Amino acid sequence: MPLSLDAPIFAPDAFRIDNAQAKLIDKARAFGAEVLAPRAAKHDRDATFPIENFRDMHGEGLLAICIPTEDGGLGADFKTYCLAAAELGRYCGATALSWNMHVCSTLWTGALADALDLAKDERTIHAERRRTHYRRIVENGAIYSQPFSEVGAAAAGVVAFGTEARPVKGGFVVNGKKIFASLSGAADYYGVLCTERSEGEDASRRNTLYLAIPASLDGVSVTGDWDPLGMRATVSRTLLLKDVFVPEGEMLMPHGVYFRAASTFPHMFLTLSPTYMGLAQAAYDFTVAYLRGEVPGTPPVKRRMFPTKQIAVAEMHVMLEQTKALWFQAISEARANPSRDQVLRAYAAQHTVMENANALAAKAIRTCGGQAMLKSLPLERIYRDSRCGSLMLPWTAEICLDRLGRETLYRPGEKDD
Ligand SMILES: Cc1cc2nc3c(=O)[nH]c(=O)nc-3n(C[C@H](O)[C@H](O)[C@H](O)COP(=O)(O)OP(=O)(O)OC[C@H]3O[C@@H](n4cnc5c(N)ncnc54)[C@H](O)[C@@H]3O)c2cc1C
Repeated sequence: MPLSLDAPIFAPDAFRIDNAQAKLIDKARAFGAEVLAPRAAKHDRDATFPIENFRDMHGEGLLAICIPTEDGGLGADFKTYCLAAAELGRYCGATALSWNMHVCSTLWTGALADALDLAKDERTIHAERRRTHYRRIVENGAIYSQPFSEVGAAAAGVVAFGTEARPVKGGFVVNGKKIFASLSGAADYYGVLCTERSEGEDASRRNTLYLAIPASLDGVSVTGDWDPLGMRATVSRTLLLKDVFVPEGEMLMPHGVYFRAASTFPHMFLTLSPTYMGLAQAAYDFTVAYLRGEVPGTPPVKRRMFPTKQIAVAEMHVMLEQTKALWFQAISEARANPSRDQVLRAYAAQHTVMENANALAAKAIRTCGGQAMLKSLPLERIYRDSRCGSLMLPWTAEICLDRLGRETLYRPGEKDD
């Protein structure tokens, strides 16, 4: 590995990361620095999807990072994935966020499903089906996405998804509309959450179905513009599903298992945070390098001798260490049936990472000054990308606060009369 690479965000010795985990995280860090960083500005400017990054990730095995080793993947667990994803987010937020959507289709069906209490026949059928998905990824570099969001309260986990799957012979007929479908137009499979609903049956969140819908099927289309503030290279346009026949084999989880996963393994929603942990580190790294006069492409002017800069960097350092410590603890606690404290800590970690990434980026711009926010440098992109973190459902910064406040003050079932 070249000596010029940045140090890991989480030093293996200090954070007790074992050799196998550290190797995967190093792979992501080198890939981010050498492959993603040079391509990030162009895709951000043009709001184009970096398909070549995904082709190269396939070559490196990174599309299969969470696929079990017996199925040909790299076998990363939840925590290792999070740490690797943070390293990618440091160099290209949009690629890391899009990669997260892809990886979750394997992490949730893999290590996470393995931690759930499934019946024997559920486990057998699930093992068989997921092997098909894994083979597509390992052998062909297939890209999966994760369009869950809809206009309305479904993505927040409050009501059943409006996208519906009607059971028919051999599969389902799916109708609906998903907004903010990252990787739209680029994914080979859309990992859609929808409500399984027979004629005359009421819509219920318990009947949420997680389906991989092949992009090539009749009735699948992508529509709308994509010209957002940040995370521009995710190309999160609108996905329309009109009378799409989806074979039963495309189920990513057996009937009713997604609902059980969301209730028993809440950390599954923490997977949107690693990208932003990486962006927080990137804002800090940039500031230190800039004040030392070491940012490539800028004159070697030092600004570090001013006490105002030293205080600003010290404050950033404190905020970054606080963010890292809480987040590391939370990702280390991901498991089925976590304690109440662990769930509250996961909300606190998500809120902290999402808000602090942008606070650090804003402070970096204020501290480094006007020349640092020119489009020729990555800082303004880090600032815009990091602004998106608080908006990611189901655990937006607001929803984390809402739940933390309520669940701290009320035990399950408690009411004020
Ligand atoms: C760059 C980017 C990429 C994305 N990629 C994907 C993707 O790949 N797949 C996907 O499914 N989604 C994706 N999203 C969508 C994201 O998760 C949200 O669904 C989207 O931002 C919702 O926006 P909205 O304005 O419709 O939210 P609204 O539903 O209008 O909510 C606005 C705000 O109100 C608050 N709020 C909403 N509901 C509640 C509630 N029940 N209780 C309390 N507060 C509430 C939240 O804080 C929320 O931010 C992406 C978003 C961005 C910005």
